[in-house]
Amino acid sequence: MAAQKTVDHKYVYDFSEGNKDLKDLLGGKGANLAEMTNLGLPVPPGFTITTEACQAYLATGREPDGLAGQIETHLESLERAMGKRLGDPQDPLLVSVRSGAKFSMPGMMETVLNVGLNDQSVVGLSAQAGGSGGQAASGGADRFAWDSYRRLIQMFGKTVCDVPGEEFEHALDQAKSAKGTHNDLDLDADDLRGLVDAYKKIFLKHTGREFPQQPREQLDLAIRAVFESWNAERAVLYRRQERIPADLGTAVNVVTMVFGNLGPDSGTGVAFTRDPASGAQGIYGDYLANAQGEDVVAGIRNTVPLQELAQLDRTSYDELLSIMARLEAHYRDLCDIEFTIERGKLWMLQTRVGKRTAAAAFVIAGQLVDEGLIDLDEALHRVNGAQLAQLMFPRFQLDHEFQPVATGIGASPGAASGTVVFTSARAVELAAEGKSVILVRRETNPDDLNGMIAAKGILTSRGGKTSHAAVVARGMGKTCVSGADDIEVNVPAKRLTVAGQTVDEGDVVSIDGTTGKVYLGEVPVRPSEVVQYFEGSLDPEHIDNALVRAVHRIMTHADGKRRLAVRTNADTGADAARARRFGAEGIGLCRTEHMFLGDRRELVERLILSRAADEREAALEALLPLQRADFVEIFREMDGLPVTVRLIDPPLHEFLPPLEQLAVNVAVAQERGEDVAKEEALLAAVRRMHEENPMLGLRGVRLGLVIPGLFAMQVRAIAEAAVSCARGGGVAKPEIMVPLVGAVQELETVRAEAEKIIAEVVGDSGVEVLIGTMIEVPRAALTAGQIAEAAQFFSFGTNDLTQMGWGFSRDDVEGAFFWRYLELGIFGISPFESIDRDGVGRLVRIAAEEGRAARPGLKLGVCGEHGGDPDSVHFFHEVGLDYVSCSPFRVPVARLEAGRAVVETDGSDSR
Ligand code: PEP
Ligand code: MG
Repeated sequence: MAAQKTVDHKYVYDFSEGNKDLKDLLGGKGANLAEMTNLGLPVPPGFTITTEACQAYLATGREPDGLAGQIETHLESLERAMGKRLGDPQDPLLVSVRSGAKFSMPGMMETVLNVGLNDQSVVGLSAQAGGSGGQAASGGADRFAWDSYRRLIQMFGKTVCDVPGEEFEHALDQAKSAKGTHNDLDLDADDLRGLVDAYKKIFLKHTGREFPQQPREQLDLAIRAVFESWNAERAVLYRRQERIPADLGTAVNVVTMVFGNLGPDSGTGVAFTRDPASGAQGIYGDYLANAQGEDVVAGIRNTVPLQELAQLDRTSYDELLSIMARLEAHYRDLCDIEFTIERGKLWMLQTRVGKRTAAAAFVIAGQLVDEGLIDLDEALHRVNGAQLAQLMFPRFQLDHEFQPVATGIGASPGAASGTVVFTSARAVELAAEGKSVILVRRETNPDDLNGMIAAKGILTSRGGKTSHAAVVARGMGKTCVSGADDIEVNVPAKRLTVAGQTVDEGDVVSIDGTTGKVYLGEVPVRPSEVVQYFEGSLDPEHIDNALVRAVHRIMTHADGKRRLAVRTNADTGADAARARRFGAEGIGLCRTEHMFLGDRRELVERLILSRAADEREAALEALLPLQRADFVEIFREMDGLPVTVRLIDPPLHEFLPPLEQLAVNVAVAQERGEDVAKEEALLAAVRRMHEENPMLGLRGVRLGLVIPGLFAMQVRAIAEAAVSCARGGGVAKPEIMVPLVGAVQELETVRAEAEKIIAEVVGDSGVEVLIGTMIEVPRAALTAGQIAEAAQFFSFGTNDLTQMGWGFSRDDVEGAFFWRYLELGIFGISPFESIDRDGVGRLVRIAAEEGRAARPGLKLGVCGEHGGDPDSVHFFHEVGLDYVSCSPFRVPVARLEAGRAVVETDGSDSR
């Protein structure tokens, strides 16, 4: 609600009174028109009515006191400056009334042009247009004046009085067909005069009143309509989409009309000071002679490249180029502009810092540094992790006609085409033959891991952004679309159906993990040069690639700036190696559960099923060397860097076959009279271990406390692997991490046992092993002071902390109902994707503070998915963590954002 303002509160600013930093008050357009005016550039004179006036109008339903008088005063001074009066019958001043909010909302709000025309002033306009010795002959001038008038009635009727636009369109079409033409320009002055009459009748029919002839009334109603357009349905929707606050309101700009449609020596155009697609230097723009701005937008006639203006009007062209150079130097950025030439005189109608692609953002930031316009801190500020992430994925070349058949959740970005397979085994088989495959499942589980590794991409019909498929695919940097629920997956029949079509194993599909779109057939794919650079196969010093050079330069600066270290979540040597190339400074989370799958499953079954201690010990003993070998590989890849290994976390029954499948197998085998003793024992164990809420069941540290020897075996494997690396001349820095701790006593128990084993194994090898815990249960966060007494480090497991903090099942809710929460604005982004600063973030903050109070210098990190999310990285920087850890592909994004966090949070010294 707008605060009450005094009568003499200033609501109207002449262009000469504002500047570019007053966007809150004057909107983007008004602030920049003022800036250009003050730079001495040719801006048609005018004034801006503030967003505060709009807020007051929207709050009370009437113009605030004092506004009408201020408009009058500014109008008078505008009339004095122009030597004309608004709507004067002999020589009318005409104005446009344009919206302009703080944030650009293209086409969402209203504009009314040619305000001031009426039955008398149209004649005066014609006389002036024809009589001033310009190129429009008097016939042309007449046509121009009546065309301007009919445009006013049309825009005013539609915008101000809600007259259905189609009625005007229809009347225009009738006029054209009566003339036997499709082209507006074939209508002469008489035709347009007739059209004005027709338009007036439409206006009267819908509003019950004549078209207003009083110029000042036209102006006031137009201003009011622009205020009201802030709350038009499409504007409200757009704001919600773009997360623009609903209470900002729009400013209104009242600008002297200049005409680009006064003849061949007039025209209008748009231009960019560099290419907004690639960032390349040069002049990019379009020009349309003898036309008004809306003709360019409506695409009525084809524009020509701006360079052609040089032939048409060299003076204006040269002036425009020098203004563009000035604007760029002044704004120190790519600008986009709109201009009009009225009979050889150039007018600037708008400028703003232009939108650009991700590639252009990097390239332009680099160029501006070279040109001395900005420093590297500012360059870092002008790019972001989301842009870098976009540049790191292969993309579809969608220039051909491809229509998606389904849209799911863009779970792991990238673009992948391949042969459809429905099982992990088939994925492995076909990949071994050199085929690209897309693994399609209803949802994936740990058993699909090999298939996921073999596949180019993963498509599921169920599950959200933190489903198994999504998390694992992101970890591998593999394209994944999850939760495409229009697709029906029939694994036994090796078939999927979508949009009434059937896709069999062997057919080709393409999936876009950024947009979530699924296509039938093969869409061509282009690899990312930025990844090639990170992989080390492109040398930025020796290739002629502006993007790679800019990325290199800005990343180097970010690394020099950042305080947060960036580690990776990696469970294999290959992932560790790749992450290291991407700049990871260690492993923040090595999940050990995959080390219990595949051919080790049988040992795990023995471990679970064994009733006798010696059987269990035998199983653990057999697992020990296998685990040790896994760790040796990882320590080697991360030589010299810390590696946080997390003891096993998921409930053990996840390693057994699913209950239903097992029950059916046993029943069938029994029916056949086969010996099913082993299967029966397995079935009994699965039944015994079944949990209604496995996420809250026997997992994490609880497993270590309940299953004798399990954690001990893992601790021994880690310590032995570290010692073996040390003896081989390497430097292993293991950090053992205990999952799901909620009470210090749990950690103390595990730690006491672990320390004994470590002391025994490490001996005099010089290896140091830290023992710490995840903070992923709310109770752990709230008792962090106690837990810190027993922990040498904390790593925040923000996936579980979000799950348990909100009470949202991480495998279900995103696909199930988050759309409604997003629609209602309960949150703007899934809390599984970006940290919920107020709630879950508060738990992190409390734990960090209380942990460090109890143990000064306690090492703090985060290894949940949030560790690679740009906004969350800024939050972790603010909280004072030591490192973030994320999947290998997000490591560069986290490095960049950690650098940006310094420049943005701690203030930049660049200006
Ligand atoms: C977490 O909970 O944030 C975490 C990293 O552990 P996981 O995702 O393996 O449960
Ligand atoms: Mg967890």
